[in-house]
Amino acid sequence: MDTMQALVKARPEPGAELSTEAIPQLKPFDVLVRVKAAAICGTDVHIYDWTPYAQARVRPPMVFGHEFCGEVVATGPNVTRVATGDLIAGETHVPCGHCFLCNTGLEHICKDMKILGVHIPGVFSEYAVIPESVAWKLPADTPPLVGAILEPVGVGVHAAYAADVRGATVLVTGCGPIGLTTVGVVKSLGARLVIASDVSEKRAELAREFGADIAVSPLREDLVELARSATSGLGVDVAIEASGAASAVGQALASTRRAGQVVLFGLMGGPVALDLVEDVIYKELNIKGITGREMWRTWYQVMEIVRSGAIDVKKLVTHEFPMSEFEEAIRVAKSGGAGKVVLYPGQ
Ligand SMILES: [Zn+2]
Ligand SMILES: [Zn+2]
Repeated sequence: MDTMQALVKARPEPGAELSTEAIPQLKPFDVLVRVKAAAICGTDVHIYDWTPYAQARVRPPMVFGHEFCGEVVATGPNVTRVATGDLIAGETHVPCGHCFLCNTGLEHICKDMKILGVHIPGVFSEYAVIPESVAWKLPADTPPLVGAILEPVGVGVHAAYAADVRGATVLVTGCGPIGLTTVGVVKSLGARLVIASDVSEKRAELAREFGADIAVSPLREDLVELARSATSGLGVDVAIEASGAASAVGQALASTRRAGQVVLFGLMGGPVALDLVEDVIYKELNIKGITGREMWRTWYQVMEIVRSGAIDVKKLVTHEFPMSEFEEAIRVAKSGGAGKVVLYPGQ
């Protein structure tokens, strides 16, 4: 058998097609993976909807999808670290391996990075070819559903570790799957008080399950006021912005105390107007941007969080679909109240 079922961005227009494709060819440094589960990311919704973000990056026809868990079924002749039968997830940002950033331990922000399922063929398919350099071996008993979401979980972990949250008061704005992860990890790292906010009541409720002491909708409560009153008027030590809403960025800055830390990783749709004089300069605020996961530091941290049960990663998945029902799956992923949506290729 040399064909497979795959979800293809067939043309430069909204939508996608389930089609029969040739199983991709292995190159010397690649592994062939039978994909057991794949999760839908915001990026995939952009590709499906064919937004300007997707138009600037994706060249159809191409299999998309990048968050996966699968079993290695073949390896190229130069592969040494991964073997047939291994269960893997993957770092989806494929670094070039030789630029200044790659050479100085910053592969995750490589200057010439390729993203799986965006620049190179992805994982919404029964089989996928992955460079060995981004394969991450998992314990054999890892549920495929858990393996498939470790990549987005990693973003939340990377953000949580980006500030010193031990004993701190922390605000997390945005409680999608990544924000929820951040809430749980921040709490497990020893934050004294975690305030979470999301416009979805359901997500605010999930934030409480993940350990938030206070979870509110920013539509109903004045977040800045709440952050101050919960910290004796001081403001929180750390704010982590996970929503990508322009209004939340200003709220995060204004909620943070003088000399506090702000971590930003939610992606805004464009430039954001901020009061830098009042909210950053006079406050001597420390702002840090976060993207992706550090290779491989974040992955080790993720595995420890899964192993220790510090957060129940499975709870981030709210929906599962056979890949043949991708249209409904994408609709659910876009609906706002959902957590992670997982697809099963070949079903
Ligand atoms: Zn993703
Ligand atoms: Zn590089």
